[in-house]
Amino acid sequence: MLFNELELNQQLLRALKEAGYTKATPIQVDAIPHLMNNEDLLGCAQTGTGKTAAFALPIIQNIIEEQTAGKGAIKALILAPTRELAIQIGDSLHTYAKYLPLSIQVIFGGVSQNPQTAKLKRGTDILVATPGRLLDLIGQGFIKLNQVDFFVLDEADMMLDMGMLHDVRRILRELPKKRQSMFFSATMPKEIEKLAGTILTNPVKVVV
Ligand code: AMP
Repeated sequence: MLFNELELNQQLLRALKEAGYTKATPIQVDAIPHLMNNEDLLGCAQTGTGKTAAFALPIIQNIIEEQTAGKGAIKALILAPTRELAIQIGDSLHTYAKYLPLSIQVIFGGVSQNPQTAKLKRGTDILVATPGRLLDLIGQGFIKLNQVDFFVLDEADMMLDMGMLHDVRRILRELPKKRQSMFFSATMPKEIEKLAGTILTNPVKVVV
């Protein structure tokens, strides 16, 4: 399926074309129409399948359509287990949103928080974060998640392996109940299935 059959806006299509994307991958074909319809998603998918664009394109499109960008509040939160993954997701978001007025920021631990908090003060529409640093900055009052409409948990099984589920559960308590959630994991051990059950409402399931 071609991207221009997916009802994405012109600015997104232009950025995708420039990035060399023409055909949508299977997870993109399966997930994007449901996500644009504001449904929750449970994705059993590994890196390399195109899952980042599968969740990122509908989020970008929905924020633009709702005209909530640039108002200062974080509208989308994407949680990733590692700094490398968070940076990669941030890079993809920047590529896709190249022609759109969206502010995207990536935060992670192991580095000074000052540049991150300085940027946060200027307002962020989409935040990509690792759990520990996010909790630190919430605790210090730099971040509020009460306006989040879109929540993504990426690589959930890796978070389990890295002992991050306690932090994830604390972050969940900061999110509004009414939101759209997307949950991705390469494998679905019992504990991950249980966590997905607490986060998602009637999710569409996509396995690739
Ligand atoms: P991901 O699984 O999201 O980490 O994506 C894996 C790689 O595939 C990334 O380098 C993406 O930029 C690229 N990619 C994702 N979707 C497409 C597509 N539809 N066409 C071409 N490249 C893509």
